Amino acid sequence: MKQITVIGVGYVGLVTAACFSDLGNKVTALDIDSSKIEKLKNGEIPIYEPGLKELVARNIDANRISFTVSMEDALKDAEFVFICVGTPSGVDGDADMKYVAAAAKSIAVNMHSPLIVINKSTVPVGTGDWVAEKIIEAQTKTIEFSVVSCPEFLREGTAINDFMNPYRIVCGSTDKNAAEMVADLHKPLNAPALITNLRTAEMIKYASNAFLSTKISFINEIADICEKLGADVTEVAEGMGLDERIGPLFLGAGLGYGGSCFPKDIKALSFMADEMGVEPKIMKAVMSTNEERRTKIVERLVEIVGSLEGRTIGVFGLSFKPNTDDMRDAPSIDIINNLLSQGAKVKAYDPVAMEEAAKHLPEIQLVSDPYEAAKNVDALMVLTEWNEFINIDLERIKKLMNSPIVIDGRNIYEPEKMRRLGFTYRGVGRGYTKNDN
Ligand code: NAD
Repeated sequence: MKQITVIGVGYVGLVTAACFSDLGNKVTALDIDSSKIEKLKNGEIPIYEPGLKELVARNIDANRISFTVSMEDALKDAEFVFICVGTPSGVDGDADMKYVAAAAKSIAVNMHSPLIVINKSTVPVGTGDWVAEKIIEAQTKTIEFSVVSCPEFLREGTAINDFMNPYRIVCGSTDKNAAEMVADLHKPLNAPALITNLRTAEMIKYASNAFLSTKISFINEIADICEKLGADVTEVAEGMGLDERIGPLFLGAGLGYGGSCFPKDIKALSFMADEMGVEPKIMKAVMSTNEERRTKIVERLVEIVGSLEGRTIGVFGLSFKPNTDDMRDAPSIDIINNLLSQGAKVKAYDPVAMEEAAKHLPEIQLVSDPYEAAKNVDALMVLTEWNEFINIDLERIKKLMNSPIVIDGRNIYEPEKMRRLGFTYRGVGRGYTKNDN
């Protein structure tokens, strides 16, 4: 059993804290947001993540996890301190490091015994050295510490499983012994551990996210070509993905990537490259292809419906992907704002993200079930591929709509079936002809 402190109880921090406590460690989780800490103390979970509520409850009962806003308390017996605070995009696309800086300073002034400080936040290459400098600057007396970069690769929606069954653990440090101790903490996960230097570990995270974003933009470009040539991108992706060298994941054509990681991480890596005088040509193309997805889908709607002025558009799904309530950089935000700017009214439903969505899209009508979102609308757009929409009663949906037009930004329906049911249906990258309805 190790004494672990986790700073930040967002999607990464809370999952990290809950999973390490479930592995038998004693964990104290801290956040500057006292409302989140209060909720956690009362057994409530401030975010939506499947299985997290039960996991936290089990470990509170076992007395292995506790929550605080006091760094002094949080560091009392700590051996390992994980920094899991946000690193959002700054104005120029660089990562905004103010939360990491504040966390480092707070560690420095409250630590009273040697520590291993671990960065789990996604941070620009060089941050580990910078964090070490910040701690030394702010320390009132010299206490030994090491900084390790241990980037997190979990995905929202499957975060617990991803944390517990990672493809790899990456630990980078100038102190090899500290990196190995952090790798040891992860031993129960039975994943390959890679010990590197600090900067390499930081780069592995950015390069991984940039590569996955590239796969998504690549398949979207292929989708556009498929559409013109009468091929079906979903089958093309399946055929490509069966090749082990390519793999089936991140080959879903549609609205492009969104969320709190890919957009900001590829921007930050591209910024770093520019700063270093290396032109990030591929990454710039990936980003511009991704941005276009959000406008192209609205153009597709207008091609069929005509002017959107005074039309009502139904929307299935708002979160940036299924199984999360995260609305950060969700494609739905840009797409719906575009619809509104063209004079449309929007009625939308999402299984879990409506509370979050209301903050980003105050002008739309949020309804309590998908059939309500389809009722009396002039067209329906699928923006997130929740299972609830895949298994919906499509005949009932058709009867409810003013006109049976479906623009499926996530390719969740079969074009043949939709046309048989009498819908005017458009997916993404699934070649159709003028004879298709
Ligand atoms: P988040 O915004 O959900 O959570 C960050 C938390 O840190 C918030 O609760 C905030 O109040 C808290 N915080 C900020 N400053 C603090 C401070 N000084 N002291 C204590 N708490 C503080 O962010 P997230 O999605 O969990 O992401 C955290 C980091 O992990 C980011 O760098 C992100 O890029 C990276 N990451 C995220 C994911 C993901 O899927 N969300 C996956 C891998 C890596």
